[in-house]
This record gives sequence, structure tokens and C-alpha cells, in this order.
Amino acid sequence: MACHEGHTELNSPTASTSFLIQNYRRQDVSFVRGNGCYLYDGAGREYLDAFAGVAVCTLGHSHPKLVETLSRQAATLIHTSNHYGQLGQEELAARIVPEAFPGRMLFCNSGTEANEAAYKLVRLWGNVAHEGRKRRIIAFEGSFHGRTLGSLSITHTPSYRAPFEPLPPTDFVPFGDADALAAAMKDDVAGVFLEPIQGESGVHVPPPGFLARVRELCTRHQALMVADEIQTGIGRTGRMFCHQHEGITPDVMSLAKGLGGGIPIGAVLATEPVAALMTPGLHGTTFGGNPFACAAGLTVMKEVTSPGFVGNVVERGLQLMEGLRRIFGPTHEVRGKGLLVGVQLQRPPAELVKAALAQGLVVGVAGNNTLRIAPSLIITAVQVDELLEKLAAAHRAQG
Ligand SMILES: *Cc1c(COP(=O)(O)O)cnc(C)c1O
Repeated sequence: MACHEGHTELNSPTASTSFLIQNYRRQDVSFVRGNGCYLYDGAGREYLDAFAGVAVCTLGHSHPKLVETLSRQAATLIHTSNHYGQLGQEELAARIVPEAFPGRMLFCNSGTEANEAAYKLVRLWGNVAHEGRKRRIIAFEGSFHGRTLGSLSITHTPSYRAPFEPLPPTDFVPFGDADALAAAMKDDVAGVFLEPIQGESGVHVPPPGFLARVRELCTRHQALMVADEIQTGIGRTGRMFCHQHEGITPDVMSLAKGLGGGIPIGAVLATEPVAALMTPGLHGTTFGGNPFACAAGLTVMKEVTSPGFVGNVVERGLQLMEGLRRIFGPTHEVRGKGLLVGVQLQRPPAELVKAALAQGLVVGVAGNNTLRIAPSLIITAVQVDELLEKLAAAHRAQG
């Protein structure tokens, strides 16, 4: 721990003295240690973590099983590259596929990379399986799929896109509007990308039946339905994968965030006919799915699929949303499912985030006016109450 504590003096460089490119607006706090649902800064101050590193730390911080597996894996084998057999990938895929839908997986390092791989599968679907007759890509207004150029091209937020044009063309359709999608769908569509719940742009839950309509339209036009479950997957919304709330399956699913519990890993799962299009040499990654990352993923999957785990997400989610409605009243919409929850605020959320930090509570932001709460999935009922008390105090402090 001493070496971490030693970083304390480094926490204070200002924008002008930092050696880092200033591409982030960071909070004025640096954490040096974590334990369960709690984080600690250099001065030893405790914070309840209701953001989990952007819905990543599924098992909280320093979970004993993750610490144990990763220590063991680090001492055994960290990396060999995809030039050799990857037993960790085999084992992890064998855990994920039966929880999702029949198909095959490809592992990478992040969310945006998972969507790049998904995008390439969609291209192969249009260019190879349909001999170039399908080139059009559809995504939704308010979407967020990542920051690399392919993923950015299907990300809607103009301020993220505009500085990096030209990007591959995408047709954007209003989120949750199945009729608009029906009007936009033609047989030249290769793929439709969507988040089952839009996370980044404000925790927007589509109307019931929407995913089923998207599924139907994709099937009718032989377009691939790509579910970006990077934020919503791995138990986050109270089902293993969010699309399961509607009893449908996509053709391709991307995963990342919660899968590694904090160790970078991404993945795509594609149905067999789609997966078969990705022949040797068409795609690859040096680090993707190395033994260390897969050990993390396997530990997370074992925990999340253990009896009662996802049930806790459902119960804590209901407790959280009910408490938030009590605190904020009917003037603020509370949206979400499971432990992915947003509160629509009437002013920029930065103030409330700061006030929460002052109360020892870490919360996030989505879009430009939504408070985002996405704690570790191991959060207890008592900790949800603590979260609500601290947030209520922060809300009151704002007046
Ligand atoms: C976070 C996120 C991404 C991007 O993941 P990175 O690991 O930051 O590249 C893509 N899609 C969704 C839905 C996300 O929430």
C-alpha cells in the first residue's frame, strides 16, 4: 500500500503542469485504494462508490476471488498472443455463450474494439454473404458506441463526431421509435446497431416491445441486429443480458465494461453463420483475450451466474429507484433497470456530483443533464440506504 500512498503528491498537478494530454474533465479527487463498494483517497477519506468506474467494477474493488485468481494467473502466465491456443478464451466463451445465444466469440480489449469487430462482421455480412448488396448502416439518435472511428461513426453525439469527420456514413433513427426504423429499413441495410438501454446519453429505456420490433425488422430485411451490451450486459440490468428482458436474441452482441471487473477485456458474440464469415487473417489483436484478462472474465462470470447474484441486482435496483423517487420527487424523472439508473436533473449535474463527493459519495453523469448511478452489483441493501442518505444530503446542500 505504501507505494500507492506515495502517489499522493502527484494528485495535484494542474492542467498547465500535467504531462497528460488534457482530453478529460476530471473530478478533483484521486483514489488510491478500494475495498468492496468503497474507495479511499490519499488522505484516507472513505467514499461509497455508486459509479463503479463507469459500470465496470461488477464485483466491487479488491474482491477476494478476483485478487486470488489474478494473483495466481499473474504468477502463472500473463500473455502469449493470439498466435497460440488460448485456453482462457475457450473457457470464458464456454461460460458466456450458454448464458446468451448459440454462436462464437472473439475477444479484444475494450468496448470500442468490440464494436469495431461487430462492425466488421456487419461489413462481411453485406460484402461477402450478400455480395455487396448491403452497405447501409443504421444506428439510433442518442447512441454511444465508442471513440474509435468505426464506433464513432455509429455514435450520434455531434460534438464527439464533428471534429473527426469524415466518418463512414450512418443513418440515424429516433431511439425507441420502431415505426421510424420500419420506414428507414430497406434490403440494402447490413446492420442495425443499438444499446438495449442507452447508457452514456442519459439512461434512456426504450418503450416495451421496441427490441422485439427491431428484431422483427432486422429478420425481415436480413439485416444484422447488433446489441451493444457493453454497459448493459453481465447482470447490470437484472438479467444476464439486457435484451433478455424482451425474450429476443440479437445476431451480434458486444461486451466489455463489466466483463473483466476492472481488467480491460471486450468481446463479441455472433451467431454461427455470421461468425463463420470471419476467416483467418481478417481481424486480430495482440492483447485481446490474454490469459490474465480471461481469468478476470471467468471469475466475474462465475460470480454473476452464482445463485442469487442477479436477483440482488433486481432487488437493489428497485430499492434504489424507489429511494431516488422519494428524494427527487415527481419533478425529476428516474429511469433505468437493475443497477443502471439515471435521474433527469433540471440543471447541469456537475454541482450535484461535487456535492455528493463532499458527502463521501461517488456518482456519475450521463448525457448533459442526467445523474448516472451504476454501483457494483454486490452492493447490499444497507449500502443502498447509505447511498440514498448521502445523495439526499448532497441534494439538500444544493438547495
Ligand atoms: C462504454 C461504452 C462503449 C465504449 O467502451 P470503451 O471501453 O470505453 O471503448 C461502447 N458502447 C457502450 C454502450 C458503452 O457504454
